[in-house]
Amino acid sequence: MMKRPKPDRIDNLRRLMKAEGVDALLVTKRENVRYLTGFTGSAGSFLVTPGRSWLITDFRYKLQSRRETSGTTILIQKTDFPTALQETALSAGIDSLWFDESSLTIEELKKLRKRGLKPRGHRDIVGELRKRKDKQELASIRKAIRRAEESFRELKKYIRPGARERRLAFTLECLMREKGARKAAFDTIVASGRNGAMPHASVTDRRIKAGDLVTFDFGAEAGGYFCDITRTFCLGRPSARQLEIHGLVQEAQLAAIKSVRPGVSCKSVDDAARDVIKKANHGSHFGHGTGHGIGLMVHEAPSVSPLSRDSVAQDMVFTVEPGVYIPDWGGVRIEDMVLVTERGAKVLTTLPRELDGLRSL
Ligand code: ZN
Ligand code: ZN
Repeated sequence: MMKRPKPDRIDNLRRLMKAEGVDALLVTKRENVRYLTGFTGSAGSFLVTPGRSWLITDFRYKLQSRRETSGTTILIQKTDFPTALQETALSAGIDSLWFDESSLTIEELKKLRKRGLKPRGHRDIVGELRKRKDKQELASIRKAIRRAEESFRELKKYIRPGARERRLAFTLECLMREKGARKAAFDTIVASGRNGAMPHASVTDRRIKAGDLVTFDFGAEAGGYFCDITRTFCLGRPSARQLEIHGLVQEAQLAAIKSVRPGVSCKSVDDAARDVIKKANHGSHFGHGTGHGIGLMVHEAPSVSPLSRDSVAQDMVFTVEPGVYIPDWGGVRIEDMVLVTERGAKVLTTLPRELDGLRSL
């Protein structure tokens, strides 16, 4: 049984709408609709005014929408969505309709205009609310982490010389599904040897060898929420260079985690990791952001990167995942998830981070 979201999410949205002068908001992104209503169907839009709300969906979700939501009027569209929306807006006296400009297509926009609705673009204010997680969300995130970490511990026995990257990724995904995850958070990455130089390597049929660095990047799902964890382990005795690069990434990650506290900019958290890597002359080997928010989507606000304009706030959950990637050699990335508390970052992920961490699993 799906847990219904608390009605205070919609109250919070209405407060934000009022502050921004938005009197009728059309929420179309699936994850935003789910966040506000609990509805998990693939087709549905949510219309909110200060006093009322409507979930507009179709026949396929007639029963499901009733089961999953409460306190909102459910409208099963008879023809198409623009017609249903036009009728609702007309009966509710809605004149101008605000929508999240990052989610509506130009085609949809044209259709709405044709029906006399005056759509007005707005930033994704539901996404803004989703940056900070409530208790119910945190419980799901923790559960997703538990599923992923327990699965990884069980994968340990298969991680040995001769095992193929593809087989390990597949086995890990099966283990996560067996523990109840509806799906893997994303295509699991197992990148060994030189393949590790590609931050988002696709798995290959390569067999892992003794002495390889192997990067595992994976996540499970629970209650619609995701986790995202990366570990880089050495299969056997690490070389001096492997130890040096891994130690550097660990140091960068720790610096970033330590810099987290409410009020600082997300860019400064990225800086903390990046400075450590730059000082060791590997700046050009770290080309991605240090982290990203995570929840109903694997990548969501806030962004923890050099270009980020977000600030760290209490109850945010994001990843801290610096990496160093050296062409023709390999790479190291370590990724943990942190929860922002009033005192700083609380690390939610618990798998060992050391290069020989496989042993202590
Ligand atoms: Zn990841
Ligand atoms: Zn990530």
